[in-house]
Amino acid sequence: MICKKCMSGNVSVQMTQDIKLRKKRKGILYWVIIGWWLQPLLWLFFTLPMLFIAIFRPKRYKLRVKNKKIAICQNCGYQWNA
Ligand SMILES: [Zn+2]
Repeated sequence: MICKKCMSGNVSVQMTQDIKLRKKRKGILYWVIIGWWLQPLLWLFFTLPMLFIAIFRPKRYKLRVKNKKIAICQNCGYQWNA
């Protein structure tokens, strides 16, 4: 792969998940008070049904987690979707 900006061949490709970009890091207090029971509940009520939906109705529903390939030029720092 070649950088479109500087034509360097020194380009690395990384896999990123879109969903990670939207998540904010929670403080320790959040986890002590809420996180330990809320997260498993959310997972149970949202992720499990979503997985079932994704498995049994793959054409109508899609999981929102998208794996994106991003190429990063090691020479000039230019990034683009691979
Ligand atoms: Zn470059």
